[in-house]
Amino acid sequence: MINNKYNAMTFSFELFPPKTAEGLEKLKPQIAALTAVKPKYFSVTYGAGGSTRERTFATVDWLRSQGIDTAPHLSCIGSSRQEIKDILIHYQNQDIHRLVALRGDLPSGMGSSESGDFRYANELVAFIRSEMGDHFHIEVAAYPEIHPQASNAVKDLHNFQTKVAAGANSAITQYFYNLDAYTKFRDDCHKLGIDIPIIPGIMPITNYKQLTRFSDACGAEIPRWIRKRLETYQDNPESLQVFGHEVVTNLCRQLLDSGAPGLHFYTMNQATYPLNIWQELGL
Ligand code: FAD
Repeated sequence: MINNKYNAMTFSFELFPPKTAEGLEKLKPQIAALTAVKPKYFSVTYGAGGSTRERTFATVDWLRSQGIDTAPHLSCIGSSRQEIKDILIHYQNQDIHRLVALRGDLPSGMGSSESGDFRYANELVAFIRSEMGDHFHIEVAAYPEIHPQASNAVKDLHNFQTKVAAGANSAITQYFYNLDAYTKFRDDCHKLGIDIPIIPGIMPITNYKQLTRFSDACGAEIPRWIRKRLETYQDNPESLQVFGHEVVTNLCRQLLDSGAPGLHFYTMNQATYPLNIWQELGL
C-alpha cells in the first residue's frame, strides 16, 4: 500500500515482452510480486518497426486478463497510419486507456525510405488524438540529459514542447543518475509553460556491463564516481548490487523530496531490485 505522503503520485513498472511462451510463464511470478505493492500500471515495451508486435500483444493480453492496468508502448517509426490505427483499435477493445507513444529507432539496416508515415513522436501523438480523441492517456518520452540524436539541448527541449502540445498528458524520462539533470529539465519545462507531470525513469544498478552498454546507446551518463566503483565491483556482484541499491535509492529519495510526481521503474523483468528500492523508500 502506498504511504499517504505518496498517495497522489504515480508509481509504475516497465516490462519488456519475453521472447517465448516459456519466458512469459517465468515473468508471471515477477509480475505477481510487483502487483502486490499496487503500482498504478505496468507498461510493456514495443520494438521499433513492430519487431515485437505479437510478443507485446501477448504480454499485454495476459496483464489485461488479470485485470491489471496496462500501458502498452507504441513506437511509430517504420509503420503506416493504418497499422497504427489497427493497433489503437485493438487496445481500445481491450479497455486500455493509457499508452506510451514513441518514435522508436529504425532497426539497423532499414533505410529512411522504409521509415513509414511518421517521422517523430509528436506526429504519433497528434494522430492518436485525431483518431481516438481523449480515449487514451498519452505518455511520451523525455530526456533530461538530452536525446542522443538532438542537434542541441535547446532544440531538443522545443521538440519536447511540440510533442506535449500535440496532446501528451504526461512524460516518463530516460534514466539518469544526475539529479540536477532532472531538476534543470523540469524547471526549463516550467519556464516554457509545459506543465504536465514529468516522471523520472529509474534504472536499478545490478549489472555493470549491461548498464554501460545501455547507457552508451541511450545517452545516459554514468557519473565517474559511480562508474569507478562499479568497475571495482565487477567481479563481486553482491557488493555491486549493495552499492547500486544505495545509489539508486538515494536518487529516488532526492527526486521525491524535490517534488518529482512519481517514479517509473525499468524493471528489466526482475521484481527484486525495484521492490527493494520501493520498500526502503517506504512507498
Ligand atoms: P522524438 O520525441 O520524436 O525525438 C527523437 C529525436 O528527434 C530527438 O532528438 C528530438 O529532439 C528530435 N525531434 C523530435 N521532434 C522533432 C521535430 N518535429 N523536428 C525535428 N526534430 C525532432 N524505444 C522503442 O523502440 N520501444 C519502446 O518501447 C521504447 N520505450 C521507451 C520508453 C521511454 C520512457 C523512453 C525514454 C524511451 C523509450 N524508447 C523505446 C526509446 C525511444 O524510442 C528512443 O529514444 C528514440 O530514439 C526516440 O523516441 P522519442 O519518442 O523520444 O522520439
